[in-house]
Amino acid sequence: MASQDDTNARVGALLRDLAAVQTSVQSRWGYKRAAAAILNLEEPLEELIQPDGTIRKIAGIGPASSRVILEYLQTGSSPTVERAVQESSRTREVIRSRELREHFLSRAQVAAALKNPKLGSLRLEHYRGDLQMHSRYSDGTDTLDEIVEGCRARGWRYCAVTDHSYGLPIAGGVPMEILRRQHREIAALNKKYKGRFRLLKGIEANILADGRVDMKAGELRLLEIVVASPHSRLRSGEDQTERLLEAIATPGVHILGHPRGRMFGSRPGLTADWDRVFVAAARAGVAIEIDGDPSRQDIDHALARRAIKAGCLFALDSDAHAVSQLAFTEIAIAHARLAGVPRARIINCWELDDLLQWAVLAWQR
Ligand SMILES: [Zn+2]
Repeated sequence: MASQDDTNARVGALLRDLAAVQTSVQSRWGYKRAAAAILNLEEPLEELIQPDGTIRKIAGIGPASSRVILEYLQTGSSPTVERAVQESSRTREVIRSRELREHFLSRAQVAAALKNPKLGSLRLEHYRGDLQMHSRYSDGTDTLDEIVEGCRARGWRYCAVTDHSYGLPIAGGVPMEILRRQHREIAALNKKYKGRFRLLKGIEANILADGRVDMKAGELRLLEIVVASPHSRLRSGEDQTERLLEAIATPGVHILGHPRGRMFGSRPGLTADWDRVFVAAARAGVAIEIDGDPSRQDIDHALARRAIKAGCLFALDSDAHAVSQLAFTEIAIAHARLAGVPRARIINCWELDDLLQWAVLAWQR
């Protein structure tokens, strides 16, 4: 099942194109809202066609958007959108943004991938805990208590709270003295939930331009899970393989977070020789993240296939900034199923003790 078959993603993208060429703020907003409604729809659009050929009412979708949907379902393209793009002064920008929507899954496609029995043995119930999320300590909205309850409600056994490191003040990076306070709060919660749930001390460290992470070794030692992610130079076309290799070689790093740093329709992310990055990660025992944030989906199922071949481990994380976003793990799991990642290579499916034993090995590189 390739994302080429993802009608909702295609139609959502067309509506985004139409939004981009509107001259009034109001109609731009209207088409953006329509695109979001289609991308978040649980069912594929094909299933919403009624016997008389019209489309069932969808919240947030007006008559003009409905016309685009019907055109696409009937012909596989939308002359209305193509004409509007050609006639606008923003043709080049629209064409460029189309390249930045490759291998993003719509909600309907995620639901289909989770259900499809042909896609291997990995199921939602195999997933034991999420290893990238943000609390109120950095740029998230929820407290550690709320996060623990949210994870427990999903049947998980553990999670790592990975607020931004102090090197990224723009994202509310946590100074070390505040991080120590967080660790005391984590210890208290772990006492309360003993035997039922374990909150891991994590961080999302920032990969600097030269590939070093923005924390000292002694600081990284205080943490049980270290996600290292790039947050800068994500639009530059120059090769940044060495930057990622340096990050992977850093003692104490467990997960390469959102490895590309791409953003849906707006940012390509960094350029690298991914096969070299994956081989190095496999050798070092660094897990490659599939970040489930819908606007990231990074890495995606197509690139994940190459990481499987290289022998990589995988972390399937939500990158949630609110408890409701823990559901983004489903998007990461859908990509893993589409790629065919073996369950044994997904660190979130491991027992806690195995995960912690593996985490210690990051100090032996
Ligand atoms: Zn990040």
